[in-house]
Order: sequence, then C-alpha cells, then structure tokens
Amino acid sequence: MKLVKLIGNLGYGSRKEVAAMFREGRITDADGEVLYADDQVEHARIRIDDEPLDPPAGLVLLLHKPVGYTCSTKDKGRVVYDLLPPRYRLRSPLLSTVGRLDRDTSGALLMTDDGGLLHRIVSPKAQLPKVYEATLASDLRGDEAAVFASGTLMLESEKEPLAPAGMEVVAPRHARLTLIEGRYHQVRRMFAAVGNHVQALHRSRIGGLTLDDLPPGEWRVLGAADLERLF
Ligand code: URA
Repeated sequence: MKLVKLIGNLGYGSRKEVAAMFREGRITDADGEVLYADDQVEHARIRIDDEPLDPPAGLVLLLHKPVGYTCSTKDKGRVVYDLLPPRYRLRSPLLSTVGRLDRDTSGALLMTDDGGLLHRIVSPKAQLPKVYEATLASDLRGDEAAVFASGTLMLESEKEPLAPAGMEVVAPRHARLTLIEGRYHQVRRMFAAVGNHVQALHRSRIGGLTLDDLPPGEWRVLGAADLERLF
C-alpha cells in the first residue's frame, strides 16, 4: 500500500492533509530520510514528526476503563475513545470495543479493528471466562453461588436461562463472578435476581489477560504473547 494511503487510513488526516505532511518533510524513515507519498517502506521504520507511526491494521488494545465512560461512539458524555489519541477514532478499519462495559463499570476492555478476532472473543462458542469483582449493597445471603451455578436462572425479559456462572465469596459484600456469556447488564441483573444490588463493578480478567498495573484510563497495545494469554 502506498504510504499516503497507509497514513491516511491510520487517521492522521485526509489524503490532502497527508500529502501536505509529505511536502513539509514531516514524514521520514528511522534514519531521518524524508519519504515520499509513493514510497513503500517497512511500517516499523516510518516516523511522523520523529514519532513512530501508529500500529498497523490488526490492532488490539487493552484499556483500563474508568467509571464514567461509555463504550459507545455516539454518547454525548465521555466515551472510551476520548482516552485514545483523537486520530484513533478515524482509523480505517474502525476500532471497536470487544463487547461493552456499562458507564458505571470499570476494568479490562479490549478494542480491536480485527473483525475476525472480535467475533472469536465474543462468540458464545469461545466460552471465554470473564471475571468481575462486585461490591454489593447488602451482605450475601449464602445461596447465590448455587443459584448462579445452576444454569436455570432466568433474567427478566430473557428467553433462555443463564449459563452456569462461578461465584466466590471474597467478603460478605464482595463477590467474584466468572461468566462465560455477556448479556446486557448481566452481573447487575444477576444480583438483582437474588435480592441484592451491585454498588460497584470491576472486570479484572478476560480469558487469561489481566490489567496488571495498568492504571485507570491507560491502555496498551497487545502483542502475540498477550493474545496467547487471552485464549
Ligand atoms: N455486567 C454488568 O452488569 N455490567 C457490565 O458492565 C458488565 C457485566
């Protein structure tokens, strides 16, 4: 792919704007040699204003979503895309969230422009475990783990019962849930179904991937080793 198209696809500007960046000599290789719109250069060697070019298509990010941000592109409030450089919203192919976390939920959120990978992660067939830390308004009553594990719990307005889910009691008002599906507001609705209320919710793990010490609002690009941990 010609450089001008590659750089445009990464959201740095329209064709016209990127062409102007070439004319201004802002696009160089790793040795500082000025590049031209028609050049074909290894991605890792391209620099814009001396900064490495953003990763190519096939990008997977792990974001530590803070409370107060939605996963939508259309919401008028704060959205997770606000946590990335503005050009990431203009990339082609588009970067999407892999499933969603509610505005009031924090934790691990994947974003990718790889439709096949996205499908692989969210597909019910993948049965990828997701772990949530739920802080509850009332003490656990004792039967919740059995109810969630039963595979018979029906949530309001759903046609199918929930798949069996794991629950560990961490403290009287702190439960750790492991789910293999991702229905709308699932954890909050599960606890509502057993007479409790989720006050705070955090996703700590997706497959074998954890946030480690990634602070809220920060993100990192995942590599092949991370994706191996994921599945
Ligand atoms: N379950 C919820 O209730 N909310 C989320 O964001 C994720 C799972």
